[in-house]
Amino acid sequence: MATIAFIGLGNMGGPMAINLVKAGHQVKAFDLSLEALATVKAAGAEVAASAADAAAGADFVISMLPAGKHVLGLYLGEQGIAAQIKQDALVIDCSTIDADSARKLGAGLAEQGIAFIDAPVSGGVGGAKAGTLTFIVGGSEADYQKALPVLQGMGKNIFHAGAIGAGQVAKICNNMLLSILMVGTSESLQMGIDNGLDPKVLSEIMLKSSGRNWTLELYNPCPDVMENVPSSNNYQGGFMVDLMAKDLGLALEAATQSQSSTPMGALARNLYVAHQRAGHGKLDFSSIFKLFEKKA
Ligand code: NAD
Repeated sequence: MATIAFIGLGNMGGPMAINLVKAGHQVKAFDLSLEALATVKAAGAEVAASAADAAAGADFVISMLPAGKHVLGLYLGEQGIAAQIKQDALVIDCSTIDADSARKLGAGLAEQGIAFIDAPVSGGVGGAKAGTLTFIVGGSEADYQKALPVLQGMGKNIFHAGAIGAGQVAKICNNMLLSILMVGTSESLQMGIDNGLDPKVLSEIMLKSSGRNWTLELYNPCPDVMENVPSSNNYQGGFMVDLMAKDLGLALEAATQSQSSTPMGALARNLYVAHQRAGHGKLDFSSIFKLFEKKA
């Protein structure tokens, strides 16, 4: 059992912190939202008066915040909590942020003698609640090993991608590919429909042919082809267009820095941002199918 500070108790962080309580850890939680604090308190977490209060004396400090600026501000900003963290503690940032900010944070904490790993997740709110998230870790082997028992309380598949920042890079590579597959699957299905095919039949054919991919297997974007997926529920729930657009922005920033050529990722980002600007930011990302649909 470890003493864990958990900062950022939103859609993802809330259920993750609750799973750590269930795993027997002593969790001291903080969020700017009183409602979020009340939910984790009811599940057995101790509520801290501030982020610094949560971090003081903790063996592990976990953060799950919206973006890089929040994470850097939390630890290294004017009111940054780095000074309150114990020397032998391990900081685990699970937010999806740019790899550069993760490296900056790692370096800033190292200056104060504090160890750090980036550990972004895949698996969405469902995975956070079920404790089946995939963690993609960037950091030293020793810190990865130290974090494992804690991460196992919140996830099922835990990968060590490489040095600090590598977790973030692997995560955005995956999401860039996912967005490309989702757009490609959507336009192919719609072309079939436009030419008189039943999307269910076409999906079955492509699933047994070389176009087979994760979106066809588990997340068909065409309404009523599959049960229990966002496309059959007006694109509610799942992984929001806003978050996919954010991740694709991070992917293209990384590609620019490494001078990588990512034409498909750039196109996917533009399509997702246009879809977001058309007012669909809160829908699941499979709603990109709407872009190709023929309106009645
Ligand atoms: P969210 O907006 O629901 O939660 C963020 C929480 O952080 C909020 O409760 C907010 O009050 C809190 N917060 C912000 N600044 C704070 C500060 N300085 N101190 C304390 N609390 C602060 O977001 P989320 O959906 O939980 O996502 C969190 C991260 O996880 C993001 O980086 C996101 O990209 C990533 N992620 C989300 C999903 C998903 O499906 N939602 C999946 C994978 C990864």
